[in-house]
Amino acid sequence: MLSAAAARASRSALRFASKSPAVHARAFSASPASLGLNSLHTFTDEEEMLRDAVRKFANEVVAPRVRQMDEAESMDPAVIQGLFEQGLMGIETSADHGGAESSFTAAVIAIEELAKVDPSVSVLCDVHNTLVNTIFRKYATPEQKDKWLPQLAESKLGSFCLSEAASGSDAFALQTRAEKKGDKYVINGTKMWITNSSEAEIFLVFANVDPSKGYKGITCFVVTKDMGIKIAKKEEKLGIRASSTCVLNFDDVEVPEENIIGGVGKGYKLAIEILNEGRIGIAGQMLGLAQGAFDKAVPYTYQRKQFGKPIGEFQGMAFQFAEVATEIEAARLLTYNAARRKEEGKSFTMEAAMAKWYASVVAQKASGAAIEWAGGVGFTRETGIEKFWRDSKIGAIYEGTSNIQLQTIAKFIQKQYS
Ligand SMILES: Cc1cc2nc3c(=O)[nH]c(=O)nc-3n(C[C@H](O)[C@H](O)[C@H](O)COP(=O)(O)OP(=O)(O)OC[C@H]3O[C@@H](n4cnc5c(N)ncnc54)[C@H](O)[C@@H]3O)c2cc1C
Repeated sequence: MLSAAAARASRSALRFASKSPAVHARAFSASPASLGLNSLHTFTDEEEMLRDAVRKFANEVVAPRVRQMDEAESMDPAVIQGLFEQGLMGIETSADHGGAESSFTAAVIAIEELAKVDPSVSVLCDVHNTLVNTIFRKYATPEQKDKWLPQLAESKLGSFCLSEAASGSDAFALQTRAEKKGDKYVINGTKMWITNSSEAEIFLVFANVDPSKGYKGITCFVVTKDMGIKIAKKEEKLGIRASSTCVLNFDDVEVPEENIIGGVGKGYKLAIEILNEGRIGIAGQMLGLAQGAFDKAVPYTYQRKQFGKPIGEFQGMAFQFAEVATEIEAARLLTYNAARRKEEGKSFTMEAAMAKWYASVVAQKASGAAIEWAGGVGFTRETGIEKFWRDSKIGAIYEGTSNIQLQTIAKFIQKQYS
């Protein structure tokens, strides 16, 4: 209820506006769009152009290779090369550093479009852009940016190495150590689940320089493959099989002190901040995946006839399409909203967690339903629909499991209501 004073102020403002046409015109002439109040489907020309270009690349270069890459459990080098050539490996990187100098939303759109065709290619691009490049862009010194960003934009794939066997959700319990020796650090330890690690040349590695300080000893190092990183094992996975996920050993790997990013002991802060925004990328991946499965299965239902008519015309099918399409749109709006909030400098941690959690739920539901909509052929590997379902499971696991997202959202609720 309005207080008496607020009600008086509001009444007098309305009276004033109605008696004074000039003021009225000034106060109410600005259209919502001119104030930047647009739908979440409003994009800059550049973002629209990027979406078209990624869609073309995904359909022409990625699509013909999806099944073979999945069966072979490896990424075709031509796809990685194509991503670099298309300027998709430095989307937010400044033009000075060889990048496209585009928006964060542009990166999310690229990740979404790639996932419509292959979520494995999408995550490769996602990790490289939203985690690796962003760490350099946000926390590196000017000299470090000059050295690393052009390589990452033009030819060298990046990896983000935080998780270990005993530290997953509890990421800062990591055991990898970095010991200072002169002007170098010597890294020892084992990282697990590292995306892109088979093909990557530049690795951001989180190691503790002083375990007595707990998580405040965690530091981020740039390590290149030729410094001696060993791939101990390549995981055989349920989904996103073309995306490499490896166990990496660091045995006395010497790294120059100048390769510390963001300062000694600042690794935990940097990782938290980067994963908060990285989650929006994963939401984009899951959103694209859901749409990709929908787009593959639904047209088939209008071709396939049973009982004398297209199966898609039965209400039992049509209502399912309507429900899933609505959920995909809801996931899309959550994802774009989180991305735009980040760009606007507003708080976005809760919105990113909501987007990632919900998009991964929708991805599983949409891809699972798509298999059923296509019937027996949906269950075969030929159509590629089952692949979307296999790929969807990872959305609830990496960059914070679904429980961890719900925990984050719940913390905000408690803060507001308790
Ligand atoms: C394909 C793949 C790629 C990956 N890529 C990378 C990468 O590039 N870089 C990297 O650093 N890491 C990567 N990861 C690691 C990923 O981030 C972790 O797997 C994830 O954080 C979960 O950790 P965990 O596997 O140890 O599971 P755990 O932490 O052991 O979780 C197991 C279960 O316990 C639940 N749980 C744990 N703690 C809580 C809690 N407090 N409350 C409620 N439930 C809880 C979880 O929600 C989950 O359901 C990748 C993983 C996979 C599978």
